[in-house]
Amino acid sequence: SPAPDLLSFDKSAEAIRTNSRWMSGGVNSNFRLNISPTPLVFERGEGPYLHDIDGNRLIDYYLGMGPMILGHKPPAIVDAVKAQIDKGILFAGQTAIEAEAARLVCEMVPSAERMRFGSSGSEVDQAALRLARAATGRAKIIKFEGHYHGWFDNVLWSTAPPLDAAGPEEAPMPVAGSKGQLADTAATVVVLPWNNLELLRERLAAGDIAAVIMEAAMCNAGAVHPAPGYLEGVREACTRYGTILVFDEVITGFRLAPGGAQQKFGVTPDLSTFGKAIANGFPVAAIAGRAELMDLFSTGGVVHGGTYNAQPVAMAATAATLKSLTPALYKEIDRTGSALMNGIREIFASAGVTASVAGFPQVFHVALGLEAPAQNYRDLARMNRPAYVALATALLRRGVRVLERGAWFLSSTHDDAVIEETLAAMRGAVQELKAK
Ligand code: PMP
Repeated sequence: SPAPDLLSFDKSAEAIRTNSRWMSGGVNSNFRLNISPTPLVFERGEGPYLHDIDGNRLIDYYLGMGPMILGHKPPAIVDAVKAQIDKGILFAGQTAIEAEAARLVCEMVPSAERMRFGSSGSEVDQAALRLARAATGRAKIIKFEGHYHGWFDNVLWSTAPPLDAAGPEEAPMPVAGSKGQLADTAATVVVLPWNNLELLRERLAAGDIAAVIMEAAMCNAGAVHPAPGYLEGVREACTRYGTILVFDEVITGFRLAPGGAQQKFGVTPDLSTFGKAIANGFPVAAIAGRAELMDLFSTGGVVHGGTYNAQPVAMAATAATLKSLTPALYKEIDRTGSALMNGIREIFASAGVTASVAGFPQVFHVALGLEAPAQNYRDLARMNRPAYVALATALLRRGVRVLERGAWFLSSTHDDAVIEETLAAMRGAVQELKAK
């Protein structure tokens, strides 16, 4: 049992056991299962902190799996949402607030001539692939090993394949992510290694690919930069072979920059998808892109629906969030996030821990056991996962909550004092693990 000054999570563990009577596994997402020492049950959140039912205050680097770039419960969002609730909740019609949110998306995102809202990243990714298929008359898509585009059958391929089942590095096998997944959809998916332009060019040349979909900077499985010239090369090859380029910016959008990865790297996709940070915690997603493609929804016979699309309360949150996302905010997270990344590197270096701390100040990835930053999924898959889970657990017992897969998300409320407290916890956690 942990030392007396370390946090315990007994009430959460007990609640998960009790709640498993009503909810499968006591949770509502498979990605919240199997957390060490237990999935947590929370009471409230404010700024960089979450408070759980054991009375622990945790510095939060999950940030809702990415959305909370303004931290928990930012006053501007709370006020906007309360004002909208006073006017009503769901109209199944249009509102001024959705138009304002849409205008802000189109102003902020370089490729967004036109857009539509949805409720989850998974479904807007489906919308993008449907548009691409309608526009090209082709069925197949290219996706990349280790890139996640939602939990639906036709894209849940090779998102986190075990290396012994994944085939050769240059010709990966599509590996199903779930039991019950329609196996036929594998025939519509070509899986390639990311950051390899030659292989992509070769495959596109056959002329049968509707869309290339990618995280423009890999973030879900671990933060990996596009190799210099890679995104430009992808753009050029897609144009040459008549393939729609889709950037899945569900994590990177409104997080790496006001205009997402496409703005940061200066490469313009045909379509892009957003979620997470677009509404600081409200269930909002978006698809945006070239007007002639987007208008296939209104005039080209391509169906896109959703009872909760542009739900007015969520739209109030979206508009308020987007108005809060100033260039200065990203600069500030550049500073605090870099301090945190460098602090972690120094702690590892002085303790003799081999690790790569890579990515962006707004979202970075700690990979134990890697000598150099990963270039693609195969590199990431070689990180020492059991050791990282132990580190994440040791951090949690010291009041710092990080994702067990290695990602750290920052918000504008993680200030210098929070970063210092985090680094102190990291020193303690590394010492504990070295002593074992
Ligand atoms: N794309 C990426 C890159 C993601 O990280 C996620 C969610 N983690 C999704 C799509 C799916 O989004 P959602 O969970 O909102 O369906």
